[in-house]
Amino acid sequence: MHGKDIRLEAVGITYPNGFRAVEPTDLEIRAGEFFSILGPSGCGKTTILRTISGFVEPSEGRVLIGGEDMAGRAPDQRPTALIFQNLALFPLMSVRDNVAFGLEARGVSKRERRARAQELLELVALGDQAEKKPTELSGGQRQRVAIARALAVEPAVLLLDEPLSALDLKLRQHMRAELRAIQKKTGVTFLYITHDQSEALAMSDRIAVMNKGKIEQVGSCDEVYSDPLTAFAASFVGEVNMIPGTIKSVIPDMALVESALGTFTARNPRGLKVGDATYLFVRPEAMRLDPLPNDNRLAVSFDRRDLEGAFVTLHMKASDGTPMAAQLPNDGQRRDPASLTELGFSPEAAIALPEGPLAR
Ligand code: ATP
Repeated sequence: MHGKDIRLEAVGITYPNGFRAVEPTDLEIRAGEFFSILGPSGCGKTTILRTISGFVEPSEGRVLIGGEDMAGRAPDQRPTALIFQNLALFPLMSVRDNVAFGLEARGVSKRERRARAQELLELVALGDQAEKKPTELSGGQRQRVAIARALAVEPAVLLLDEPLSALDLKLRQHMRAELRAIQKKTGVTFLYITHDQSEALAMSDRIAVMNKGKIEQVGSCDEVYSDPLTAFAASFVGEVNMIPGTIKSVIPDMALVESALGTFTARNPRGLKVGDATYLFVRPEAMRLDPLPNDNRLAVSFDRRDLEGAFVTLHMKASDGTPMAAQLPNDGQRRDPASLTELGFSPEAAIALPEGPLAR
């Protein structure tokens, strides 16, 4: 098996009822990568997936897979396979026959179908479950049968639409690692759709953050987390503290932000100008209880402490009541957080972005 790249060129999608689900979008997904589209419910993720798989034609623009224009090609003529949350395994067929199902239609001989199904079941670690019926398997095992079945037709691209959302948390976390391993072993391009940022961050080589029919940012998980480009991306991916303000002055790459909570120095990656409205973002783990000399300083009062095993999150309130969080490694010190009056954060850890819609 081998993966192919996917290219969307100015793809816009309007449904027949006139609803504009996806604004003109350019997107390049590399051959053999694990790519996720991450965004809230209704943002248009599934619509993009349906367009790549051929169930919805784009209203404008082109979809290319492996450099070939997919216009006018039916779903079964594309090098793609699709997996949904609702697996639709055949309950009366054995696991092996479920996996081999798609091969029969392609005229593959019975012996070869059996051999191929067995090989795929080994790949998803179900080699010894081939004779069972799907109802005799656990949710995670059934999910792996669905993956084996989708891979049986040797797609170059596997499209996965929130396939783990029906599983419980433990199984979901286990399946993340399984999916990642299967993707690496096969080299097939995986395009994964989810509203769950921890899922996208755990599995993907790269992600696209989507909101209201638009892709706001594409990058590696680290890039999007550390260098978000929009207020939405900053607030959707990971926890973050936000302070609204105005740009007071700029020096190359940095800006001085004036706010109701004080004046702060921050990175200015979008080149905001004096007078621009801005949201300043700081991750909870960048907050310091003992500010360093060059740190920004923020007056706070203590609200509550959440113990999360290896980490402790201190929830505070700024002087105007805005909630602020600081996440610290749990080093076993029982310092009393109730006496805290100030947090520090470095100018490099703060990022000033254009004011805009926030997640949640
Ligand atoms: P979810 O995670 O809830 O599935 P999503 O991001 O995948 O959300 P889509 O299913 O792509 O969202 O839907 C995007 C928007 O398009 C939604 O507002 C939805 O109501 C609308 N929509 C989806 N299918 C159709 C359709 N066939 N006709 C008209 N509008 C549609």
